[in-house]
Amino acid sequence: MAKISIDLNEATIIKKEPIVGIDLGTTNSLVAHIDPESGDTVILSAGNKDLLVPSVVHFDNEDRAVVGNAAVNMLSAHPERTIYSAKRLMGRSYSDIQDHSAFFGYKIIETDEEELVKVQVGDRFYSPIELSAEILKELKYRAENSLGQSVRKAVITVPAYFNDNQRQATRDAGKLAGLDVLRILNEPTAASLAYGIGMQEAEAKTVAVFDLGGGTFDVSILRIEDGVYDVMATNGDTYLGGDDIDRAILNYWRAEDPKLAEAFDDHSLRLQAETAKKHLSIHDQFSVMHEGHDLQIDRDTFESLIEPLVERMMGSCKVAMKDAGLDISQIDEVAMVGGSTRVPFVRERVGQFFSESHLNTEIDPDQVVALGAAVEADILAGNRTDTLLLDVTPLSLGIETMGGLMDVIIPRNTNIPTNAAKSYTTSVDGQVNLKVNVFQGERDLVSENRKLAEFDLRGIPAMPAGLPKIQVSFMLDADGILRVEASETRSGVKQEISVKPQYGLSDEAVENMLLESLKNAEGDMRFRALTEARNEANNLILSAEKFLEHHADDIEPSERESIVVQLNRLRTSVAGEDKDLILAEIENLNDITRPFAEQMMDKAVSAALKGKNI
Ligand code: ADP
Ligand code: MG
Repeated sequence: MAKISIDLNEATIIKKEPIVGIDLGTTNSLVAHIDPESGDTVILSAGNKDLLVPSVVHFDNEDRAVVGNAAVNMLSAHPERTIYSAKRLMGRSYSDIQDHSAFFGYKIIETDEEELVKVQVGDRFYSPIELSAEILKELKYRAENSLGQSVRKAVITVPAYFNDNQRQATRDAGKLAGLDVLRILNEPTAASLAYGIGMQEAEAKTVAVFDLGGGTFDVSILRIEDGVYDVMATNGDTYLGGDDIDRAILNYWRAEDPKLAEAFDDHSLRLQAETAKKHLSIHDQFSVMHEGHDLQIDRDTFESLIEPLVERMMGSCKVAMKDAGLDISQIDEVAMVGGSTRVPFVRERVGQFFSESHLNTEIDPDQVVALGAAVEADILAGNRTDTLLLDVTPLSLGIETMGGLMDVIIPRNTNIPTNAAKSYTTSVDGQVNLKVNVFQGERDLVSENRKLAEFDLRGIPAMPAGLPKIQVSFMLDADGILRVEASETRSGVKQEISVKPQYGLSDEAVENMLLESLKNAEGDMRFRALTEARNEANNLILSAEKFLEHHADDIEPSERESIVVQLNRLRTSVAGEDKDLILAEIENLNDITRPFAEQMMDKAVSAALKGKNI
């Protein structure tokens, strides 16, 4: 067994630089920070009276981005240049959102590459990552102005149901805004943290988080034990939220006064409906004179209007509880999250469903997620020693594979301690030594990453390429020490190794690596695809050559000729840079050789049935 140990502490230490917590919401976004001296949690608004930044981006005629309330003000005059709900598009393909295309007032297009959507504004195209980055830049600006220093590190929250693509997209948006995203945190986990649930040692709790925002609803059941926040179940509706409540009021007014439909466009009335809704959260009656029309609604009418919506929410709660396999009595706490949980009728029904006494409503539901993200940021900054929350590795760790590619074994932001292993094999017949190069970084090419160590696994018994099974294990302990083991599992070969530890990286260098990786992501991806195609082609060439050699007698000369011609074509394509051409030539060679391979297989099978060796 070959082993090396590398001290990563130099690279993993996080300087006492502010780390902020960001709630990147579908409707509203905000940034919060805990003052390390006073321990006070503050929403960073740079002196703005509005603490929330509406998640809306407007592009003016010169393609300059305007974010927040200023963008909202452009919504009715320039809907095609004003993008809301970009979060819904994160990591999504066109088919994911097709059914809801009417929801978006701007132009969403399908792109050929990666099949991810883009938004068209004039003659420019924006990815959802770029749009979210604009919002994050505004939050970064607010944070820097409030704290009076540069802010480069953040924790960003995402819904518990976000998949890997959506999380990665969020991370990339952070990078693009110049933020190193130290952790992507689940929104319900953030809400629990804000309420301090599960932060005491040996505290085990089961929590329901009910989150009703502007356009989305979700309920999550969390099990918190030993500082680990595990999502047991999540349910909801990504097209159900405060907007639907507004629409219910608007439709009611329209039904009451048919003349309204002609008098006003949707937008101005919808704003009045939202005002009415908020008013009814604290009063029993709303009325306003809206350009000569008397708009009124009382609490009872309002509640009967939204009853069907609330019923749907309670249905989701039931399913989530069922999926978690829990009984209501097993829920210790319920956290209310999202601006729309201010509606008393919603609170009432959630209280009835779970338990009135377990309802947590003290923290502002608009702010609770951002405040929880700030708690997490504070923990990561090392300002709290009393909590159990695990740390993460800030850069990916992996080894070099064929063609100088980085093969990640422990991805960046993995909680530590952690163990991970992958299997590899040789690429040359009779190979008895294998060099293991250990790297740290986010780039696809190891030459762009930081080399941590190298060692040789020697004494692998000579076998044909592809047969040895080499297991490389990474063990990263709680102090950031990495131990690497390599072994050939068929022979069990054990081997002493030589270690060449490299020098540490400054914080700035880590950040530069991250920013570089984003800048170069596209080029790296292209190169990775090309290298992978070349590797596949080389393997196929090798096995085709072997095939020709071993079955010289079974193949007609003309057939042999056509294989050789195609082999040469494939060789030529490998020398070039065109990935698609290489893949096409691979396919062509496969087409030619497939019948032979099948024939040989049949022969081998019938020979085996006759009890003969071939
Ligand atoms: P998101 O998580 O989707 O970004 P928020 O949590 O910011 O959304 O919630 C925004 C929604 O909360 C909007 O629909 C808004 O009208 C609603 N809201 C805000 N304040 C109140 C209130 N006092 N009463 C009822 N609804 C409210
Ligand atoms: Mg939210």
